[in-house]
Amino acid sequence: MRGQSAKFMLNNKQIAGRFDLLAKLMELHDENPFKIRSYANAYVSLRKLEGDLMTMGKEHIAAIPGVGSAIADKIEELLSTGEMKTLKKYQDITPSGIQEMLSVKGLGPKKVKQIWKEMEIHSIGELLYACNENRLMSYKGFGSKLQEEIKDRIEYFIESKGKYLYAHLHKHADDLVTWLKASYPGQLFSLSGDIKRMMPEVKGIEILATIQIEADILSDQSFVYNDEKACYTFNGFPVYIEVVTKESFYWELFKRSCSESFLSYFEANNTYFESESAIFKKAGVHFIPAEFRENIDTITLYKKGQVPRLIEVTDIKGIVHNHSTYSDGLHSLEEMAEYVRKCGFEYFVISDHSKSAGYAGGLSEEKVLNQIREIETLNAKYGDGFKIFKSIESDILIDGSLDYREEILKQFDFVIASVHSVLNMDETKATSRLIKAIENPYTRILGHPTGRLLLARPGYPVDFKKIIDACASNGVVIELNANPQRLDIDWTLLPYAMEKNVLIAINPDAHSKESIHYINYGVAAGRKGGLTKEMCLNTKNLKEFKEWVKS
Ligand SMILES: [Zn+2]
Ligand SMILES: [Zn+2]
Repeated sequence: MRGQSAKFMLNNKQIAGRFDLLAKLMELHDENPFKIRSYANAYVSLRKLEGDLMTMGKEHIAAIPGVGSAIADKIEELLSTGEMKTLKKYQDITPSGIQEMLSVKGLGPKKVKQIWKEMEIHSIGELLYACNENRLMSYKGFGSKLQEEIKDRIEYFIESKGKYLYAHLHKHADDLVTWLKASYPGQLFSLSGDIKRMMPEVKGIEILATIQIEADILSDQSFVYNDEKACYTFNGFPVYIEVVTKESFYWELFKRSCSESFLSYFEANNTYFESESAIFKKAGVHFIPAEFRENIDTITLYKKGQVPRLIEVTDIKGIVHNHSTYSDGLHSLEEMAEYVRKCGFEYFVISDHSKSAGYAGGLSEEKVLNQIREIETLNAKYGDGFKIFKSIESDILIDGSLDYREEILKQFDFVIASVHSVLNMDETKATSRLIKAIENPYTRILGHPTGRLLLARPGYPVDFKKIIDACASNGVVIELNANPQRLDIDWTLLPYAMEKNVLIAINPDAHSKESIHYINYGVAAGRKGGLTKEMCLNTKNLKEFKEWVKS
């Protein structure tokens, strides 16, 4: 019996897991293959061991096939100190994002090493983004099929960690509400909380109901109670259901669907309302949609009848900031343009990566000229009803300058300037780098200003007031990148931008045909920030847009 020395409670599976991790970390760091194999073997033997390691003597453990005395020592160390020094040594020298990657199913140490060392990707969120931009495909051993598999697994992994992108959830949420309404006639159901407010990140599907939902009512197992998550799940997503009375339903819904400061304006002495509109009516305020119930100042405006015309998806007339196979897109220039035209838009702006973006197939000057020729040929074919504009997503270099010589920059209809590299500057340096790019006469749009990736990495630290002021004085448009993982510039900054008369472009940054529909998420974020049709660049029709390009 080792009872006295075993201070830490670990079961066989947990102990085996440490050796699995150790073997993987050592492989990442190119350690001795024999040692790695011995730890990997220990993992296999310990996992399927019948007896309990906690109660076994050291000699007994050492005699287990595939274990031996060195590993038995490590198990003893683990049980008495709760730690294994060798393991800790490798954990300390491996970025936490890389360690996390090892826990994504299907990503073994070989692949993770390649992702880390060759692709220079340090977190799961960055890896997901790289999949969406088809960046993995160009590396040895990564085809499009594997890229797709990795993407699915990461999405699953991120989702199982307790925070979700609104974009991944909202369709399931709508389906569930529709299904509940059909299953319980006469009862009230609504999405509630963050998902009703269209927050970019949500904790799950929040539902307000007037009846307790019966367990396992859906026969296809899509709606079940999940013990691990301690809540219901629908298609794997957590569902939080709150039950209230029919009388208080709309008040309770309203309470959960706005910010605290917004709510503070409304009194709660009467909680019976026939609808959400009735709550606004009683307060003498025009109806405010849930996604815009954020700022208390909004109420003052709506009370005075100054109701802004919030942007809608149907207001978008053209698709700006897209990639094609010239750089890292999945579809050709013509396929992209044709898809956009068929969706009923009036123009399409191609802005592939510039030459410094080597990782993304950035365009050499020769390729730029080829692309321009192809655009001209296609435009001649399209005639007056549809137009492709020649743009480039120029990397903002470390000193804030743009990527091509003036002779090349001149050839574009306009330039989108974005930061893609060296994102770890301090605020002062980062801000002046961006301002220098904004002041460049060729820059017309500032792309994804902070480079943030939701659920993955924080943004570039910039002084937003200064950035917006610089855009105002240089007539530069700010992008609201509509990729649901970016939504960058953040919606909370839109009121200040509009106050300074800075136009906002809602851009999908599409790397495939289908992703042009990201604009839906950009519009939702825009509405949260009170963006109006007038203050959005690409609500301009073709004629107006041409004028903007020339101006
Ligand atoms: Zn970009
Ligand atoms: Zn882009």
